[in-house]
Amino acid sequence: MKYDVIIAGASFAGLAVASRVKGNILLIDKQDVGLNETSACAAPYSLVKRIAGEEVIFQVFEKAKVHTVLDEIDFDLNNLYCTFDYKKFCESFFKKIQVEFVKAKVKTFNEGKVITDKGEFQSDCIVDATGWRAVLASSLEKNFVDRTKLSFGIETVLDFKTDEMHFYFYNNSKTIKDGYAWVFPVGKMARFGIGSYGRNPSLKKKLAKFLDEFGLEVNSVYGGFFPHEFREPVVGKIFLAGDSAGHCLPLTGEGIRTAIYFGEVCGDIIQEIIDKKLTLEEGLSKYKNVVVSHRRYFDVLERKQSTFSSISDFWVTQLFKYTRLKPVYQYAMNKYESLGFLFGSKKGME
Ligand SMILES: Cc1cc2nc3c(=O)[nH]c(=O)nc-3n(C[C@H](O)[C@H](O)[C@H](O)COP(=O)(O)OP(=O)(O)OC[C@H]3O[C@@H](n4cnc5c(N)ncnc54)[C@H](O)[C@@H]3O)c2cc1C
Repeated sequence: MKYDVIIAGASFAGLAVASRVKGNILLIDKQDVGLNETSACAAPYSLVKRIAGEEVIFQVFEKAKVHTVLDEIDFDLNNLYCTFDYKKFCESFFKKIQVEFVKAKVKTFNEGKVITDKGEFQSDCIVDATGWRAVLASSLEKNFVDRTKLSFGIETVLDFKTDEMHFYFYNNSKTIKDGYAWVFPVGKMARFGIGSYGRNPSLKKKLAKFLDEFGLEVNSVYGGFFPHEFREPVVGKIFLAGDSAGHCLPLTGEGIRTAIYFGEVCGDIIQEIIDKKLTLEEGLSKYKNVVVSHRRYFDVLERKQSTFSSISDFWVTQLFKYTRLKPVYQYAMNKYESLGFLFGSKKGME
């Protein structure tokens, strides 16, 4: 049987693509939907509510606190943020879409066929939403994934109550030099995490050191890689969305809202192909143009990431204090909010 579209990867990006397409869709993931959690799952409240409803939300935040070695700086969030339950989020999203789901490990793409460990599946329209590994695109272009452009993060969930989101930028290596640590509350517990912009082999030790400050110890740990480099959104005749296309924002490491935004854009264009308003080639080219038009924002953040990693704690503190000055903060926020895509979708702003 030939499908209208095959989507590999059933997390944020893959589900977002599927949510915009009506037709004969095959969604493939190596795990059951909602079981491959790697993320701290903090995202704009309006987006999470729109996609999956209030039921999946743990906690909503109006404030964030930035800790540096020298100071603590409070930020009022113009837009509410929330932490949410990954499994419930994916399950709720999945219920809204009509697809055939196959649990299989995708291996390669060859002559119009997606080859998996459970057989071969055929379609002209293929989406690679397999995360940072970009499994299908990498099967066409061996060096597609640049491993020097990957960040790495881990998390542990512990008993701890707080009402704010906390970020820790300790550049003089009190905890981590080339990244940041965080505490995101989820009800009576909190997610304690640490992320490095490079490949940091001793991240678990650094997490333990960070937890020492709270008198806590590491529980079971999860996490993984996330890219900080914008990649080609089309490889051969494959659409890429989410981490597979490097859609995770550099500096902040947020990839949920962008995966959903570009996934929805991709799904809308694929629907035009199914409806024969566009040929596959026209659709691929339209998608590429839309995605690439956002590239400059990723490049700016990537430059800020490099700067941030190289300055002293004094300047990190000054930078946050400066950003918090009312006119500067308002200017930055107005700019930020005009970019609907940074909130996962223009609809997410409604
Ligand atoms: C520790 C950590 C904390 C983070 N915290 C946040 C946060 O708070 N907020 C935020 O916005 N972002 C956060 N991120 C980034 C965010 O998790 C990713 O950017 C986001 O998950 C990307 O979504 P995606 O759908 O593109 O890929 P993924 O979520 O990685 O999903 C890829 C899917 O493809 C499937 N898959 C992979 N390989 C195969 C295969 N061979 N065959 C079949 N299926 C396959 C996987 O099972 C998975 O379901 C964090 C990342 C990490 C590592």
